[in-house]
Amino acid sequence: MMQKYMDTKEEYPGCILFYRLGDFYEMFFEDAVTVSRELELTLTGKSCGLDERAPMCGVPYHAVDGYLNRLVAKGYKVAICEQTEDPKQAKGLVRREVVRVVTPGTILDSQMMDESKNNYIMCIVYLADRYGVSVADVSTGDYFVTELPDSGKLKDEISRFSPSEIICNESFYMSGMDLEDLKERLKIALYALDAWYFDDGMCRKNLLEHFQVKTLDGLGLGDLDSGVISAGALLGYLLETQKNNLAHMTRITPYTTGKYMMLDSSTRRNLELCETLREKQKRGSLLWVLDKTRTAMGARTLRKYAEQPLIERGEIERRLDAVAELKEQAICREEIREYLSPVYDLERLITKITYGTANPRDLTAFSGSLEMLPHVRYILEEMHSELLCEIRNRLDTLEDLCTLVKSAIAEDPPLAMKEGNIIRDGYSEEVDTLRRAKSEGKGWLAKLEEEEREKTGIKNLRIKYNKVFGYYLEVTNSYKNMVPDYFMRKQTLANAERYITPQLKELEDTILGAEDKLYALEYELYCKVRDTIAGEVERIQRTARAVAELDVFSTLALVAEHNHYVRPQINEKGVIDIRDGRHPVVERMIPDGSFICNDTFLDDKKQRISIITGPNMAGKSTYMRQTALIVLMAQIGSFVPAKSADIGLVDRIFTRVGASDDLASGQSTFMVEMTEVANILRNATAKSLLILDEIGRGTSTFDGLSIAWAVVEYISDTRFLGAKTLFATHYHELTELEGKIEHVNNYCIAVKEKGDDIVFLRKIVKGGADKSYGIQVAKLAGVPDLVINRAKEIVEELAEGDITGRVSEIAVKGCQKPQKKSRSKKYDEVDLAQFSLFDTVQDDDVLEELKTIDVGNLTPIDALNTIYRLQNKL
Ligand code: ADP
Repeated sequence: MMQKYMDTKEEYPGCILFYRLGDFYEMFFEDAVTVSRELELTLTGKSCGLDERAPMCGVPYHAVDGYLNRLVAKGYKVAICEQTEDPKQAKGLVRREVVRVVTPGTILDSQMMDESKNNYIMCIVYLADRYGVSVADVSTGDYFVTELPDSGKLKDEISRFSPSEIICNESFYMSGMDLEDLKERLKIALYALDAWYFDDGMCRKNLLEHFQVKTLDGLGLGDLDSGVISAGALLGYLLETQKNNLAHMTRITPYTTGKYMMLDSSTRRNLELCETLREKQKRGSLLWVLDKTRTAMGARTLRKYAEQPLIERGEIERRLDAVAELKEQAICREEIREYLSPVYDLERLITKITYGTANPRDLTAFSGSLEMLPHVRYILEEMHSELLCEIRNRLDTLEDLCTLVKSAIAEDPPLAMKEGNIIRDGYSEEVDTLRRAKSEGKGWLAKLEEEEREKTGIKNLRIKYNKVFGYYLEVTNSYKNMVPDYFMRKQTLANAERYITPQLKELEDTILGAEDKLYALEYELYCKVRDTIAGEVERIQRTARAVAELDVFSTLALVAEHNHYVRPQINEKGVIDIRDGRHPVVERMIPDGSFICNDTFLDDKKQRISIITGPNMAGKSTYMRQTALIVLMAQIGSFVPAKSADIGLVDRIFTRVGASDDLASGQSTFMVEMTEVANILRNATAKSLLILDEIGRGTSTFDGLSIAWAVVEYISDTRFLGAKTLFATHYHELTELEGKIEHVNNYCIAVKEKGDDIVFLRKIVKGGADKSYGIQVAKLAGVPDLVINRAKEIVEELAEGDITGRVSEIAVKGCQKPQKKSRSKKYDEVDLAQFSLFDTVQDDDVLEELKTIDVGNLTPIDALNTIYRLQNKL
C-alpha cells in the first residue's frame, strides 16, 4: 500500500495527496506534517517498512470539504485519491485513483466562492519578450486570451482579473517580476509548471481537440503565438486537474487590451471601485452604490464592467441607450427585475450539470429559473434600443429543457441521487410500476403484522425495519413467552427481542428488490435528463450571458432613477464638462441632500490642469475622485451623478492619492509615492485623466515642493504629456504657476472662518486658498487645547520673520521642536488678496437665502429663527 502511495505521490508533484483509506483520507510524510500544522490536526505515525514510522494524519471522509477548503484557501493544491472499486469485492489491494486535483483557481465548492465574483485562474507565458496571458473561470466556463508587450501591462491585467491562482512557465518565473508581491500581498497561489506543458505542438493540439476545430484561425487565435501557448497550457492543466472533459468551456475569447480603459492596480484601489481602501469591504465602494443586480450572473458582469470601462464611443452609446430606455420604461424594468429575482446562477449550475455533480434539487432550481425567461423575453418585445433587441434575440427561453425537467423530476426532490423519489409520477411507466410494488409491499407487511398478532396473541407485535437487519418482528419482554417456534431470533435488546420468519424474509426480498431496482432506475433516468441538459451547454451559456447583461442594464437604469443621475453626453474632443457633479458614494453615505455639488471643466486647451488648494478635510480628494468616478461611470455606460455631464473619452485614469497602504510591502511611503509618480509620467498619454493628491509630501518641504512643481510643468507640456489633470496640493506656492504655465488654473475649496473655528463650505471656486487652517482642523479633530494654543503661538512667531533662523529660537521656548514650515511672509501677503473670495462666498449664501424667503408666509417665530440662523452664518 505504501509503495502504491509513493507512486501516486510522485505523479502529482507539488500537491498534497489525500489518500482514501476506508472512512478516512490519510496523509503521510511531509504532507502529514504540513497538514497537521496548517489544520491543527494530531500527527500520528504508521509503520511503513522503513526504520522509522511514517508521520501520518487524517480527516474523516464525510467532513473532507471543510478541511479541503481551508487548505486550498491557504494556497495549497490537493490531489484526491479515491478507492475506485468496492473494497468488499477487491482482490488484494483496493484499486485507487486520483479523481481530481483541487487548486485555489479551480475550486468549485459553492461555500468557498463569492457568487458575485469570478474565481479566475491565469496562465502567463513569457516568450520572446512578450507575455501570453490566458484566464479561465472553471465555475462559469469563461475563457479569455491575449498577449501583452510589457510587464506594466501584465501587472494591470493581473490586477484587473485578480486571479486566485497563476500558473506560468519557467522563463516568467525567472523574468525578474516581483513574484513575492503577487504571492504575499495579492495572495495569489503561483506555480511554475514543467516545460512540457508549454510545448507548442501540444498546446495547439489541446485547443484544436477541445474546440473540435481544424485550425486556430477559426477560434480567432491565428495571430497569437505566446497567447496560444498560454491558452493551450492552461487547458492542459485544467484537463489534468479536473479529470473531466470541460464540456462547459465552450468558447475562448481573444481580446486586446486596447478595447478597454486601462486602470492600474493603485488606481483601482484608490477609486474604491469594488472595495474600500482601508476596510476592504464592499460598503463604501462604487459597486456598493451601483450593484442592485438581481442575479449572481448580473453581479459578476457589473463588476467586470466596472473594472474595464470602454473607450469606444459607439459601444458606450449603445449601453447608454439601453439604460436610457429601461429608465424611461420603469414599469417594464421593474417587471423584468421581478422575473429575474428567482433566477439562479445558470452559469455555475450548468458547470455542475456538465461535471455530473448537480443534484436533483439543482435541476429543479434550473427549471424554476428557466420558467421566468419567456416572461422576460415577452417584456423585451416592447424595447427598441439596439442592445436590448440584441439581448432579446440572444435570450433563448430554453422551453424544451424546462419542460423536460418539469415532466421528469419530482416537485420537491431530495438532495441524494441514489435514494429514489427523484422521478415524477407518470414520467416512466417502469418507475410507476416499481413504486406501486413498493407501496403494495407496505400493505402486505401490515397484513402480515395483523395476521401474526392474531395467531400469536401478542398484542404489541410490530414489524419494523432497520438498515442492518432489514425487516423484523419485535416483541417486548413481557410477551416473550408467547413467541411461537417458527420465529427465529435475530437480536436481543434490553426490553425486547427481534425475530424473523421465512414469510417475512420472502416479503422483504420482494420489497427491497423492487426498491433497489426503483432507485437504480430513477438514478439512470435522472442522469439521462442531466446529460440532455449538459448537451445544450452552449445555448444555456448564451442565455445566461443575455440575462446577466439585461440584469446589469436594468440595474443601472434603476440606480440612475433612484439616485437622480443624468445621461452623460460623450465627446471625442477632449472636453470634460460636468455641471453640479456629485460623488456617487459620499452622497449616499451622508444625510440626504447634504452633499454640495461642484462643477468640473477640463479641456485640451487652456483648462488642462487644475491646481486645487484648501485645508485638510475641505473636500479636495472627494472632488477629484468624484470627477474620476463620473468619467469612469460614463465609460461603463452608466448614467452619472450630475445635473449635466459632457464627457470627453479618456484612455486611462491614473490616481496618486495620499499616504499609501503599501507600507506593508516594505517600501517607504515616499518611495511608493515616487514609484507611482514615475509610472504615471511614463505611461499616461495626452488622452489620460490624472488625479494627483499631495505629491511630494513624503520628503522635506523644499524637495517636495520642487518635485511637485516639476511634475506640473512636465504634465502641462504637450511635448511630454499634456494630460488633463486635477492636482491637489498643500503647497500654496504652486498657485503661482497660474499665468506662468499656460494651461494651469487655480481652484480652491472654500471654507469660512467663524471666530476661532472654520466652517467647510465644500464649494470649489476659482483662485488659490490663502491658509492651511491646519490648527483649526486639528482642533476639530479633538487635539487638546494646550497643544492647539501653543501651535497658534508658534505660527504667529514663525510668520513674523525668516523661518530657518527662528525655528531653533522658538524650539527653545517651546517644549517640542516644531515642523519646519514653508510658508513665508511673502506668500501670506500674496494670499491675502484671495481673502475677499471667501467673504463673497459666505455673503452669497446668506443673500441667496434671504432672497428666497417667502416673508408673507413666515410666522414671527420662524422669522426670528431664520434671522438667528443667518446671523450665525456671517
Ligand atoms: P480633503 O481631501 O480636502 O482632506 P476630503 O475630500 O477627504 O477632504 O473630504 C473630507 C470629508 O468631507 C469627506 O469625508 C466628506 O464626508 C466631506 N465632504 C467632502 N466633499 C463634500 C461635499 N461636496 N459635500 C458634502 N460633504 C463633503
